[in-house]
Amino acid sequence: MHPETIAIHAQTERTQFNEHSVPLYLTSSFVYEDAETMRAMFADEKEGYIYSRFTNPNVTEFQEKVRLLEGADSAASFASGMAAIFAVFAALLKTGDRVVCCHSVFGATHSILEKHLSRWGIKFTYTDIKKTEEWESAIGADTKIIFVETPSNPTLDVIDLEWLGKLSKKHGCILAVDNCFATPVLQQPVKFGADLVIHSATKYLDGQGRVLGGVVAGRKDLLETIKLFARHTGPALSPFNAWVLSKSLETLALRMERHSENALKIAQYLEKHKDVESVMYPFLPSHPGYAIARKQMSRGGGMVAFVIKGGLERGKKFLDSVEMSSLTANLGDTRTIVSHPASTTHAKISEQEREHSGIVPGLIRISAGIEHISDIIEDLEQAFSKV
Ligand SMILES: *Cc1c(COP(=O)(O)O)cnc(C)c1O
Repeated sequence: MHPETIAIHAQTERTQFNEHSVPLYLTSSFVYEDAETMRAMFADEKEGYIYSRFTNPNVTEFQEKVRLLEGADSAASFASGMAAIFAVFAALLKTGDRVVCCHSVFGATHSILEKHLSRWGIKFTYTDIKKTEEWESAIGADTKIIFVETPSNPTLDVIDLEWLGKLSKKHGCILAVDNCFATPVLQQPVKFGADLVIHSATKYLDGQGRVLGGVVAGRKDLLETIKLFARHTGPALSPFNAWVLSKSLETLALRMERHSENALKIAQYLEKHKDVESVMYPFLPSHPGYAIARKQMSRGGGMVAFVIKGGLERGKKFLDSVEMSSLTANLGDTRTIVSHPASTTHAKISEQEREHSGIVPGLIRISAGIEHISDIIEDLEQAFSKV
């Protein structure tokens, strides 16, 4: 089946009522006919549901759809994207191990590495996504995980996954890719050698800014360890959120098409604007990673970043001047969102690290919604006119 069809039909479980739409299984546990069945399930001799911290039919439906869309062997879901990222690190790393990570990753991923894993003697090295030669020297005998975001948040850097997949194999590392910005509709990292693919389902997978969720898809052996960690420590995705997310996946391909079309048009509009210093969008020929993006992504995605002339002051004024677009922390929503990473999502990382990640004071990030493009451009235009 094709991705559009998988997202709708995969893993449909019906009750005795034969409902058309998958119902919500709001239950913390499941009952058994006899003691022997219960024993066999606890002993993993028999498949079935035990307790919703481990699994639940709605959770299974959601993660199975993501697994198929990513072309992975196995998948596990979590209460949020950060719970998914933390579970990958906590389940697979031990004291003395090192994570090699690109500079431009989500703010809270920096915090996990710097403030939490470091307390347990787990080391990290940041590398520049654009300087491939830096990666080879950063990887040592202690490197266990290579962690990247592509396109990255918020600067939309692109890394060559095929090249990184080979490098990771050569050194026997686990390659984990945060695929939040592209979604499996536009990019499937497993095809290029990624061992694990991570999502904040809160973003495009939900796509309507309603629920939090996270998912990890990838190699079966790694997922077994990650699932056991999750079963013991409890960062479970709620059945309700899984149910919402599973419905959302049914429209993901359609939404990504429109998000990408709108974002490209916004990027082209910004590139010509006199008040704009630079624009970052993977499918603009002026983007340094354009050729790589065209190779590994089917569309450019819904995120655009630009630097407004006049830095922080005019950037803030621009944010104050938009009318239809929202000022909010989320992204990947049907509604267009503008944000200022330096003062919000990436405010807690050091000034030096921000500079390394390309998060200059005048950087503005736009999450293109699926409204009519003319209304989005009109809103941006009136905001520019006020600053
Ligand atoms: C939002 C986001 C996360 C964190 O996900 P939550 O669901 O908010 O915990 C991780 N990575 C990227 C790229 C994100 O945009």
